Amino acid sequence: MSPYLKLLGQIFLRVAIVVAIGLICGAPFGHPALGALLLLIPYVLLQMRQLVRLRAWLMAPKRYFLPDAHGIWGEVFDLLIDLQRKNRKRKKRLALMLAEFQSSTAALPDGAVVLGDRGEISWFNTAARQLLGLRAPQDLGIRIPNLIRHPSFTEFFEQGDFEHETEAPSPLNRTRMLSLRIIPYGNDQKLLIVRDISERRQLEAARRDFVSNASHELRTPLTVLRGYLDLMDAEAQQAGPLGAWQSPIVEMRNQALRMEALVNDMLKLARLEADRAAMTDELLPAPALIARAIEEARAVSKGQHRFEHDISDGLLLLGGEAEFHSIIINLMTNAVRYTPPGGVIRVSWSQLDDGSARFAVADTGIGISADDIPRLTERFYRVDVGRSRASGGTGLGLSIVKHALEAFDSRLEIDSEPGVGSTFFCRFPVHRVQVAPGAAPAAIPNETRSGA
Ligand code: ADP
Repeated sequence: MSPYLKLLGQIFLRVAIVVAIGLICGAPFGHPALGALLLLIPYVLLQMRQLVRLRAWLMAPKRYFLPDAHGIWGEVFDLLIDLQRKNRKRKKRLALMLAEFQSSTAALPDGAVVLGDRGEISWFNTAARQLLGLRAPQDLGIRIPNLIRHPSFTEFFEQGDFEHETEAPSPLNRTRMLSLRIIPYGNDQKLLIVRDISERRQLEAARRDFVSNASHELRTPLTVLRGYLDLMDAEAQQAGPLGAWQSPIVEMRNQALRMEALVNDMLKLARLEADRAAMTDELLPAPALIARAIEEARAVSKGQHRFEHDISDGLLLLGGEAEFHSIIINLMTNAVRYTPPGGVIRVSWSQLDDGSARFAVADTGIGISADDIPRLTERFYRVDVGRSRASGGTGLGLSIVKHALEAFDSRLEIDSEPGVGSTFFCRFPVHRVQVAPGAAPAAIPNETRSGA
């Protein structure tokens, strides 16, 4: 029998006993029903009393005690007391856990802010107070974008794409740079993690300044050396005292040229890394610039490759000319250097359906394995160091392309198959593209094999 039915049976039995006693006591007086009623009334009142006591205890469990009781009330009271004891234990455990969590997050060097579904602050640790200048309780309940009022954070928060982090200066001290990351969790809640990255930024700036200064300092002595080597090279061509030194002089001149290219690339990269925002935007005649770069690439190819192109006239680009030139010339000279003679290099510049513009350089060269592709834009990463050096590579070309593209809000994409060829392409977003319907077509001779 189920406990529920058993309990009902017990209650019924008790009431039946009370009624039976009442009937028996009332029978000698000729009123058995009255006898039963007279016994039932105090029985019901007794139950009511227990109910009132239970209510009083439930309302203020600390002020009232549950009395000892027999039967069903006793059982109910015992169960309730047991439940209360368990609840107290659980509460104590939770309070302990919360205290531990708060003391451990308080000790964190990173700021942590718990945000509600609208971005309102519901809790923060000591580091968040120091990094963001948050105050308790004044700032609790205030939306975080109202306190971190920096355009990059406002845009990041409103866009709701929290896969990446953003950076903004501290509202307390503008010289401190913060990295801000949002982790969504639970029921539309978010955790904002704040990290002070000023030192890292300073170290990066110091490294960039060092590379830039060292490259700059190396430039002058190198120019002098190259000047003399040029003179000696010309001299060595004739039958004179330097005739016997011709081949070492040619080698020295080549190495000086290589060093010059390296120093120039290092300077270019340091400038691009230093400040993306420093690029001055102007309306670039992209088709003409690409046409000029194709001519430069033809010169490097020395007639060994066939050039094809498909360029949309009047498709203009908003950005810096030097940066755009770095992108297109690096991709084209790489195509020349990594494509065996007789190969084809296709350059295209076109507008896509969504209004963005696509620049692509495809070659029928040696190709790149899938493992190497993700690492190509790392500084000095080369698949084949010997081949890169032999063809005059500095190992910095694609790094420069990557950083220059970032200034254009774009990125490099690569499709390649070893032994078949590669396509390097990039998409310039709509806000950087303009179409000039009446613009003059780019003057690119569409011949098949390049001439130097
Ligand atoms: P490098 O000066 O060595 O060419 P880059 O940064 O321009 O340096 O390129 C990095 C590496 O990427 C190169 O060393 C080469 O291995 C590979 N690479 C670049 N472009 C191509 C291409 N079009 N085809 C095959 N490999 C390429």
